[in-house]
Amino acid sequence: MIPPDHPRYRSLVVRERLAGSARKGIVSWEGLTAHGRGEAFDYLLGERTTASALFAERTAAALLLSARHPVISINGNTAALAAGEIAALQKACGALVEVNLFHRTERRVKMIEDLLTVAGVDVFSGKAERLLLLSHDRAWCRRDGMYSADVVLVPLEDGDRCEVLAGMGKTVIAIDLNPLSRTARTATLTIVDELTRALPQITSACRDLSQAGEERSPVPVDNHYLLSEAIREMTARLSHALD
Ligand code: ATP
Repeated sequence: MIPPDHPRYRSLVVRERLAGSARKGIVSWEGLTAHGRGEAFDYLLGERTTASALFAERTAAALLLSARHPVISINGNTAALAAGEIAALQKACGALVEVNLFHRTERRVKMIEDLLTVAGVDVFSGKAERLLLLSHDRAWCRRDGMYSADVVLVPLEDGDRCEVLAGMGKTVIAIDLNPLSRTARTATLTIVDELTRALPQITSACRDLSQAGEERSPVPVDNHYLLSEAIREMTARLSHALD
């Protein structure tokens, strides 16, 4: 039992949730280490959404709303941490939601799809094929889903697939706390923020934009600026850490 007055309460609850999901087989054991890397970068960010991340989240909303065929790609960590937030985002932007795993078994895919469905997500399932030019199992996707998408939101991605998707001419939106990762540097737009903070911001921006009924025009993105701002925020915190 984690005492609610513990100074790291939220982080400990999240770890416990991920560990439970790993025991069930939803999160891979490797996914726990990936979460640890994310936590370290979040510490440097001050565990808050920075102004540049908020700007990236609003830009992501505009990209999703102006897409012809937007798809949200889900892995085990994303499902365990944010199934409800994915359901809300899907309602706000109308994207397909498809499971795509590095440590892929049919059993894991089914467990994650079921978890998402219970949380209210309309999951795009069905026959997957080895369609992406990758030697690992992230290559498996659906022809009418991710393969034909024009905009793909890839929370917690690995750099390989991000590169392949971008190489196919897709607009790739990544959520990654590490501004130095290959994913962050390869994506069209990188949101350097924690997943469960980022998703509700994108959803709320989608709702605002839909209500405003603005013309859907091309959305300019300067990812180099967004990554430099994230690095600047982290460096500034490090420089003043002991003040
Ligand atoms: P790359 O292949 O892109 O260089 P990597 O090898 O670090 O990256 P993974 O091991 O798949 O890729 O790690 C996933 C990434 O997700 C990490 O960079 C980590 O910072 C990030 N991450 C983990 N948990 C979260 C979270 N909750 N919110 C946002 N980002 C996260």
